[in-house]
Amino acid sequence: MTDVANFSGVINFGAGPAKLPQKVLKDVQDEFLSYANTKISVVELSHRSSDFAKILEHAQSSVRDILKIPKNFHILFLQGGGTGMFAAVPLNLLKKTGTADYIVTGSWSAKAAKEAEKYGKVNLVLPKTSKYTDIPDPSTWNLNSEASYVYYCANETVHGIEFDYIPEVGNVPLVADMSSNILTRPIDFTKFAVVFAGAQKNIGPAGVTLVIVRDDVLRNPMPICPTVLDFTVMAKDNSNHNTPPTFQIYVVGRVFDWVKENGGVEGMEKLAITKSKILYDMIENSNGFYYSPVTCNARSRMNVPFRIGGDDEELEKAFLNGALARGMLQLKGHRSVGGIRASLFNAITIEDVKALVTYMEYFYRLHRKQES
Ligand SMILES: *Cc1c(COP(=O)(O)O)cnc(C)c1O
Repeated sequence: MTDVANFSGVINFGAGPAKLPQKVLKDVQDEFLSYANTKISVVELSHRSSDFAKILEHAQSSVRDILKIPKNFHILFLQGGGTGMFAAVPLNLLKKTGTADYIVTGSWSAKAAKEAEKYGKVNLVLPKTSKYTDIPDPSTWNLNSEASYVYYCANETVHGIEFDYIPEVGNVPLVADMSSNILTRPIDFTKFAVVFAGAQKNIGPAGVTLVIVRDDVLRNPMPICPTVLDFTVMAKDNSNHNTPPTFQIYVVGRVFDWVKENGGVEGMEKLAITKSKILYDMIENSNGFYYSPVTCNARSRMNVPFRIGGDDEELEKAFLNGALARGMLQLKGHRSVGGIRASLFNAITIEDVKALVTYMEYFYRLHRKQES
Protein backbone atom coordinates (compact mmCIF):
# COMPACT_ATOMS: atom_id res chain seq x y z
CA MET A 1 0.00 0.00 0.00
CA THR A 2 1.26 3.44 -0.83
CA ASP A 3 -0.03 5.39 2.09
CA VAL A 4 1.69 8.03 4.16
CA ALA A 5 2.88 6.85 7.56
CA ASN A 6 0.24 6.40 10.23
CA PHE A 7 0.65 9.69 12.03
CA SER A 8 -1.72 8.95 14.86
CA GLY A 9 -0.04 5.93 16.44
CA VAL A 10 -3.38 4.19 16.87
CA ILE A 11 -5.44 1.79 14.75
CA ASN A 12 -9.13 2.53 14.37
CA PHE A 13 -11.00 -0.77 13.89
CA GLY A 14 -14.37 1.00 14.19
CA ALA A 15 -17.41 -0.11 12.20
CA GLY A 16 -18.28 3.40 11.10
CA PRO A 17 -17.52 6.20 10.97
CA ALA A 18 -14.38 4.27 10.16
CA LYS A 19 -10.72 4.71 9.37
CA LEU A 20 -9.97 6.65 6.18
CA PRO A 21 -6.69 6.59 4.24
CA GLN A 22 -4.11 8.78 5.96
CA LYS A 23 -3.11 10.25 2.60
CA VAL A 24 -6.63 11.51 1.95
CA LEU A 25 -6.88 13.07 5.42
CA LYS A 26 -3.52 14.78 4.95
CA ASP A 27 -4.46 16.15 1.52
CA VAL A 28 -7.77 17.43 2.85
CA GLN A 29 -5.95 19.13 5.70
CA ASP A 30 -3.43 20.74 3.33
CA GLU A 31 -6.19 22.11 1.12
CA PHE A 32 -8.71 22.99 3.76
CA LEU A 33 -8.17 26.75 4.08
CA SER A 34 -7.97 27.44 0.36
CA TYR A 35 -9.36 25.09 -2.27
CA ALA A 36 -7.37 25.11 -5.53
CA ASN A 37 -7.05 28.78 -6.58
CA THR A 38 -10.24 29.94 -4.89
CA LYS A 39 -8.70 31.41 -1.69
CA ILE A 40 -11.73 30.12 0.19
CA SER A 41 -12.31 26.79 1.93
CA VAL A 42 -13.96 23.95 0.12
CA VAL A 43 -16.73 24.13 2.74
CA GLU A 44 -17.42 27.71 1.61
CA LEU A 45 -17.78 27.03 -2.11
CA SER A 46 -21.18 27.61 -3.65
CA HIS A 47 -22.82 24.39 -4.78
CA ARG A 48 -23.65 26.31 -8.00
CA SER A 49 -20.03 27.34 -8.64
CA SER A 50 -17.94 25.92 -11.44
CA ASP A 51 -15.36 24.80 -8.86
CA PHE A 52 -17.93 22.63 -7.11
CA ALA A 53 -19.27 21.39 -10.44
CA LYS A 54 -15.77 20.06 -11.14
CA ILE A 55 -15.58 18.40 -7.71
CA LEU A 56 -18.91 16.67 -8.33
CA GLU A 57 -18.03 15.65 -11.87
CA HIS A 58 -14.68 14.31 -10.73
CA ALA A 59 -16.20 12.21 -7.91
CA GLN A 60 -18.76 10.75 -10.33
CA SER A 61 -16.31 9.95 -13.10
CA SER A 62 -13.80 8.49 -10.65
CA VAL A 63 -16.31 6.09 -9.10
CA ARG A 64 -17.76 5.26 -12.53
CA ASP A 65 -14.27 4.33 -13.60
CA ILE A 66 -13.25 2.17 -10.61
CA LEU A 67 -16.60 0.34 -10.35
CA LYS A 68 -17.10 0.19 -14.14
CA ILE A 69 -20.59 1.65 -13.78
CA PRO A 70 -22.43 1.45 -17.12
CA LYS A 71 -23.83 4.55 -18.87
CA ASN A 72 -27.45 3.66 -18.10
CA PHE A 73 -26.84 4.14 -14.36
CA HIS A 74 -27.04 7.51 -12.60
CA ILE A 75 -24.59 8.27 -9.81
CA LEU A 76 -26.28 10.26 -7.04
CA PHE A 77 -24.90 11.75 -3.84
CA LEU A 78 -27.81 12.08 -1.42
CA GLN A 79 -28.31 12.79 2.26
CA GLY A 80 -30.17 10.65 4.77
CA GLY A 81 -27.61 7.87 5.18
CA GLY A 82 -28.32 4.18 4.77
CA THR A 83 -31.41 4.62 6.92
CA GLY A 84 -32.73 7.33 4.61
CA MET A 85 -32.45 4.87 1.73
CA PHE A 86 -34.49 2.28 3.66
CA ALA A 87 -37.37 4.69 3.02
CA ALA A 88 -36.19 6.02 -0.35
CA VAL A 89 -36.10 2.58 -1.97
CA PRO A 90 -39.80 1.76 -1.43
CA LEU A 91 -40.83 5.38 -2.06
CA ASN A 92 -39.17 5.22 -5.49
CA LEU A 93 -39.69 1.60 -6.52
CA LEU A 94 -42.66 0.07 -4.73
CA LYS A 95 -45.47 1.68 -6.71
CA LYS A 96 -45.31 -0.76 -9.61
CA THR A 97 -46.93 -3.72 -7.80
CA GLY A 98 -47.14 -2.48 -4.17
CA THR A 99 -45.21 -5.47 -2.88
CA ALA A 100 -41.48 -6.10 -2.42
CA ASP A 101 -39.26 -9.05 -1.46
CA TYR A 102 -36.80 -8.62 1.42
CA ILE A 103 -33.97 -11.09 2.05
CA VAL A 104 -33.32 -10.44 5.74
CA THR A 105 -29.93 -11.73 6.89
CA GLY A 106 -29.14 -9.36 9.75
CA SER A 107 -30.16 -6.24 11.61
CA TRP A 108 -29.69 -3.78 8.72
CA SER A 109 -31.89 -5.64 6.25
CA ALA A 110 -34.40 -6.23 9.07
CA LYS A 111 -34.57 -2.46 9.63
CA ALA A 112 -34.96 -1.87 5.89
CA ALA A 113 -37.87 -4.33 5.72
CA LYS A 114 -39.57 -2.69 8.70
CA GLU A 115 -39.25 0.75 7.09
CA ALA A 116 -40.66 -0.53 3.78
CA GLU A 117 -43.75 -1.86 5.59
CA LYS A 118 -44.80 1.76 6.08
CA TYR A 119 -45.27 2.10 2.32
CA GLY A 120 -46.55 -1.23 1.08
CA LYS A 121 -46.49 -4.97 1.39
CA VAL A 122 -43.27 -6.69 2.37
CA ASN A 123 -42.70 -10.35 1.64
CA LEU A 124 -40.02 -11.91 3.83
CA VAL A 125 -38.04 -14.27 1.59
CA LEU A 126 -36.47 -16.11 4.53
CA PRO A 127 -38.05 -17.50 7.71
CA LYS A 128 -38.04 -14.93 10.54
CA THR A 129 -35.13 -15.23 12.98
CA SER A 130 -33.27 -13.08 15.46
CA LYS A 131 -30.10 -15.20 15.35
CA TYR A 132 -28.29 -14.23 12.19
CA THR A 133 -25.41 -16.64 11.60
CA ASP A 134 -25.79 -17.77 8.00
CA ILE A 135 -27.43 -17.21 4.60
CA PRO A 136 -30.01 -19.95 3.92
CA ASP A 137 -29.54 -21.74 0.60
CA PRO A 138 -31.27 -19.96 -2.33
CA SER A 139 -33.23 -23.17 -3.10
CA THR A 140 -35.25 -22.48 0.09
CA TRP A 141 -36.05 -18.83 -0.71
CA ASN A 142 -39.66 -17.72 -1.01
CA LEU A 143 -39.35 -15.20 -3.87
CA ASN A 144 -42.43 -13.55 -5.35
CA SER A 145 -42.31 -13.04 -9.13
CA GLU A 146 -44.82 -10.15 -8.72
CA ALA A 147 -42.49 -8.16 -6.45
CA SER A 148 -41.60 -4.60 -7.49
CA TYR A 149 -38.05 -5.35 -6.39
CA VAL A 150 -35.91 -7.74 -4.35
CA TYR A 151 -33.88 -6.16 -1.57
CA TYR A 152 -30.85 -7.51 0.25
CA CYS A 153 -27.90 -6.29 2.30
CA ALA A 154 -24.64 -7.42 0.71
CA ASN A 155 -22.74 -7.14 3.98
CA GLU A 156 -24.38 -7.13 7.39
CA THR A 157 -22.08 -4.87 9.38
CA VAL A 158 -23.34 -5.91 12.83
CA HIS A 159 -23.56 -9.68 12.37
CA GLY A 160 -20.59 -10.06 10.01
CA ILE A 161 -22.54 -11.81 7.23
CA GLU A 162 -21.56 -11.15 3.63
CA PHE A 163 -22.92 -12.55 0.36
CA ASP A 164 -20.14 -13.95 -1.80
CA TYR A 165 -22.58 -14.16 -4.73
CA ILE A 166 -25.34 -12.04 -6.26
CA PRO A 167 -28.86 -13.36 -5.60
CA GLU A 168 -30.53 -14.69 -8.76
CA VAL A 169 -33.91 -12.95 -9.05
CA GLY A 170 -34.85 -13.21 -12.71
CA ASN A 171 -36.35 -10.04 -14.16
CA VAL A 172 -37.32 -8.44 -10.86
CA PRO A 173 -35.17 -5.34 -10.13
CA LEU A 174 -32.50 -6.11 -7.55
CA VAL A 175 -31.64 -3.55 -4.85
CA ALA A 176 -28.55 -3.88 -2.65
CA ASP A 177 -27.40 -2.10 0.48
CA MET A 178 -23.61 -2.12 0.09
CA SER A 179 -22.91 0.43 2.83
CA SER A 180 -20.16 -1.65 4.38
CA ASN A 181 -18.60 -3.50 1.45
CA ILE A 182 -18.74 -1.20 -1.56
CA LEU A 183 -15.32 -0.57 -3.16
CA THR A 184 -14.08 -3.91 -1.80
CA ARG A 185 -14.95 -6.05 -4.82
CA PRO A 186 -16.07 -5.55 -8.43
CA ILE A 187 -19.84 -5.25 -8.99
CA ASP A 188 -21.63 -6.78 -11.99
CA PHE A 189 -24.10 -3.98 -12.71
CA THR A 190 -26.02 -6.07 -15.23
CA LYS A 191 -27.60 -7.74 -12.17
CA PHE A 192 -28.67 -4.62 -10.28
CA ALA A 193 -31.28 -1.85 -10.46
CA VAL A 194 -30.12 0.10 -7.39
CA VAL A 195 -26.98 -0.08 -5.29
CA PHE A 196 -26.60 2.30 -2.36
CA ALA A 197 -24.03 2.91 0.34
CA GLY A 198 -23.72 5.34 3.22
CA ALA A 199 -20.20 6.78 2.99
CA GLN A 200 -18.93 6.42 6.52
CA LYS A 201 -17.92 2.75 6.34
CA ASN A 202 -15.64 2.66 3.33
CA ILE A 203 -15.83 5.79 1.23
CA GLY A 204 -15.69 8.93 3.33
CA PRO A 205 -17.21 11.01 6.08
CA ALA A 206 -20.79 10.50 7.31
CA GLY A 207 -23.38 12.71 5.66
CA VAL A 208 -23.39 11.54 2.06
CA THR A 209 -24.95 8.43 0.56
CA LEU A 210 -23.86 7.07 -2.78
CA VAL A 211 -26.84 5.85 -4.83
CA ILE A 212 -26.25 4.13 -8.18
CA VAL A 213 -29.57 3.75 -9.94
CA ARG A 214 -30.53 2.28 -13.32
CA ASP A 215 -32.37 4.72 -15.55
CA ASP A 216 -35.36 2.48 -16.34
CA VAL A 217 -36.50 2.21 -12.69
CA LEU A 218 -36.86 6.00 -12.42
CA ARG A 219 -40.00 8.06 -13.14
CA ASN A 220 -42.38 6.03 -10.95
CA PRO A 221 -42.07 7.37 -7.38
CA MET A 222 -44.98 7.21 -4.96
CA PRO A 223 -46.79 10.58 -4.83
CA ILE A 224 -45.80 11.01 -1.15
CA CYS A 225 -42.07 10.58 -1.91
CA PRO A 226 -40.21 13.56 -0.37
CA THR A 227 -38.36 15.56 -3.01
CA VAL A 228 -34.96 15.08 -1.34
CA LEU A 229 -35.39 11.30 -1.54
CA ASP A 230 -36.78 11.30 -5.06
CA PHE A 231 -34.24 9.51 -7.28
CA THR A 232 -35.87 10.89 -10.44
CA VAL A 233 -35.60 14.52 -9.33
CA MET A 234 -32.08 14.02 -8.01
CA ALA A 235 -30.96 12.30 -11.22
CA LYS A 236 -32.48 15.06 -13.37
CA ASP A 237 -30.80 17.79 -11.29
CA ASN A 238 -27.55 15.83 -10.93
CA SER A 239 -27.72 15.67 -7.09
CA ASN A 240 -27.81 19.46 -7.05
CA HIS A 241 -31.56 20.05 -6.64
CA ASN A 242 -30.93 21.49 -3.19
CA THR A 243 -27.59 22.01 -1.42
CA PRO A 244 -25.77 18.67 -1.55
CA PRO A 245 -23.23 17.63 1.11
CA THR A 246 -20.45 19.49 -0.69
CA PHE A 247 -17.56 18.76 1.69
CA GLN A 248 -18.37 15.06 1.84
CA ILE A 249 -18.54 14.82 -1.94
CA TYR A 250 -15.12 16.44 -2.15
CA VAL A 251 -13.65 13.91 0.32
CA VAL A 252 -15.25 10.84 -1.29
CA GLY A 253 -13.80 11.95 -4.63
CA ARG A 254 -10.36 11.82 -3.00
CA VAL A 255 -11.07 8.38 -1.56
CA PHE A 256 -12.10 7.13 -5.02
CA ASP A 257 -8.78 8.45 -6.37
CA TRP A 258 -6.91 6.70 -3.56
CA VAL A 259 -8.65 3.41 -4.42
CA LYS A 260 -7.65 3.87 -8.07
CA GLU A 261 -4.02 4.58 -7.12
CA ASN A 262 -3.94 1.46 -4.95
CA GLY A 263 -5.04 -1.19 -7.42
CA GLY A 264 -8.71 -0.27 -7.84
CA VAL A 265 -11.51 -2.36 -6.38
CA GLU A 266 -9.67 -5.45 -7.62
CA GLY A 267 -6.70 -4.43 -5.46
CA MET A 268 -9.02 -3.71 -2.53
CA GLU A 269 -10.59 -7.15 -2.94
CA LYS A 270 -7.22 -8.91 -2.81
CA LEU A 271 -6.35 -6.91 0.25
CA ALA A 272 -9.70 -7.72 1.89
CA ILE A 273 -9.20 -11.44 1.25
CA THR A 274 -5.69 -11.35 2.71
CA LYS A 275 -6.60 -9.29 5.76
CA SER A 276 -9.72 -11.26 6.69
CA LYS A 277 -7.91 -14.59 6.20
CA ILE A 278 -5.18 -13.54 8.66
CA LEU A 279 -7.85 -12.80 11.26
CA TYR A 280 -10.13 -15.82 10.63
CA ASP A 281 -7.08 -18.13 10.64
CA MET A 282 -6.14 -16.80 14.07
CA ILE A 283 -9.69 -17.46 15.29
CA GLU A 284 -9.79 -20.98 13.78
CA ASN A 285 -6.37 -21.91 15.20
CA SER A 286 -7.20 -20.97 18.78
CA ASN A 287 -8.86 -24.26 19.81
CA GLY A 288 -12.17 -22.52 20.38
CA PHE A 289 -10.71 -19.82 22.63
CA TYR A 290 -11.80 -17.31 20.01
CA TYR A 291 -14.81 -18.25 17.96
CA SER A 292 -16.87 -16.82 15.14
CA PRO A 293 -20.60 -17.62 15.26
CA VAL A 294 -20.97 -17.18 11.48
CA THR A 295 -21.06 -20.11 9.03
CA CYS A 296 -17.81 -20.23 7.03
CA ASN A 297 -19.27 -19.42 3.59
CA ALA A 298 -21.16 -16.38 4.91
CA ARG A 299 -18.28 -14.81 6.82
CA SER A 300 -17.68 -11.16 6.08
CA ARG A 301 -14.34 -9.88 4.84
CA MET A 302 -15.14 -6.48 6.29
CA ASN A 303 -16.63 -6.99 9.74
CA VAL A 304 -15.39 -9.86 11.86
CA PRO A 305 -17.37 -10.40 15.05
CA PHE A 306 -16.00 -12.96 17.49
CA ARG A 307 -16.38 -14.12 21.07
CA ILE A 308 -13.77 -15.14 23.63
CA GLY A 309 -13.63 -18.05 26.07
CA GLY A 310 -17.18 -19.26 25.54
CA ASP A 311 -18.77 -15.81 25.81
CA ASP A 312 -16.78 -14.87 28.92
CA GLU A 313 -17.68 -11.20 29.30
CA GLU A 314 -14.97 -10.51 31.90
CA LEU A 315 -12.34 -11.92 29.58
CA GLU A 316 -13.74 -9.91 26.68
CA LYS A 317 -13.53 -6.76 28.78
CA ALA A 318 -9.90 -7.56 29.63
CA PHE A 319 -9.21 -8.13 25.93
CA LEU A 320 -10.68 -4.76 25.00
CA ASN A 321 -8.75 -2.95 27.75
CA GLY A 322 -5.50 -4.55 26.60
CA ALA A 323 -6.26 -3.61 23.00
CA LEU A 324 -6.93 -0.03 24.01
CA ALA A 325 -3.62 0.12 25.88
CA ARG A 326 -1.96 -0.91 22.61
CA GLY A 327 -3.72 1.79 20.61
CA MET A 328 -6.33 -0.50 19.00
CA LEU A 329 -9.60 1.37 19.09
CA GLN A 330 -13.30 0.55 18.68
CA LEU A 331 -13.08 -3.24 18.85
CA LYS A 332 -16.18 -3.64 21.03
CA GLY A 333 -18.93 -5.67 19.36
CA HIS A 334 -22.24 -4.03 18.54
CA ARG A 335 -24.37 -3.71 21.67
CA SER A 336 -26.97 -6.09 20.22
CA VAL A 337 -24.51 -9.01 19.83
CA GLY A 338 -21.75 -8.28 22.36
CA GLY A 339 -18.24 -9.69 22.13
CA ILE A 340 -15.60 -8.25 19.84
CA ARG A 341 -15.85 -6.91 16.30
CA ALA A 342 -12.91 -5.96 14.11
CA SER A 343 -13.83 -3.95 11.03
CA LEU A 344 -11.31 -4.27 8.21
CA PHE A 345 -12.33 -1.53 5.79
CA ASN A 346 -10.10 -0.51 2.90
CA ALA A 347 -7.96 1.92 4.90
CA ILE A 348 -7.00 -0.81 7.38
CA THR A 349 -3.59 -2.16 6.32
CA ILE A 350 -2.21 -5.69 6.52
CA GLU A 351 0.15 -4.36 9.20
CA ASP A 352 -2.84 -3.14 11.21
CA VAL A 353 -4.39 -6.63 11.11
CA LYS A 354 -1.08 -8.26 12.00
CA ALA A 355 -0.82 -6.00 15.04
CA LEU A 356 -4.26 -7.17 16.14
CA VAL A 357 -3.43 -10.84 15.57
CA THR A 358 -0.13 -10.52 17.46
CA TYR A 359 -2.07 -9.17 20.41
CA MET A 360 -4.67 -11.95 20.07
CA GLU A 361 -1.90 -14.55 20.17
CA TYR A 362 -0.43 -12.97 23.29
CA PHE A 363 -3.83 -12.81 24.97
CA TYR A 364 -4.58 -16.41 24.05
CA ARG A 365 -1.31 -17.67 25.58
CA LEU A 366 -1.99 -15.68 28.72
CA HIS A 367 -5.52 -16.98 29.27
CA ARG A 368 -5.93 -20.34 27.53
CA LYS A 369 -5.08 -22.38 30.64
CA GLN A 370 -8.21 -21.15 32.37
CA GLU A 371 -10.18 -22.71 29.54
CA SER A 372 -9.08 -26.35 29.94
C1 LIG B 1 -24.27 1.62 8.86
C2 LIG B 1 -25.18 0.91 7.97
C3 LIG B 1 -26.46 1.40 7.66
C4 LIG B 1 -27.03 2.65 8.28
O1 LIG B 1 -26.37 3.77 7.91
P1 LIG B 1 -26.76 5.20 8.49
O2 LIG B 1 -25.98 6.11 7.60
O3 LIG B 1 -26.30 5.23 9.92
O4 LIG B 1 -28.21 5.38 8.37
C5 LIG B 1 -27.23 0.70 6.77
N1 LIG B 1 -26.80 -0.44 6.23
C6 LIG B 1 -25.59 -0.96 6.50
C7 LIG B 1 -25.16 -2.22 5.86
C8 LIG B 1 -24.74 -0.29 7.38
O5 LIG B 1 -23.53 -0.80 7.67
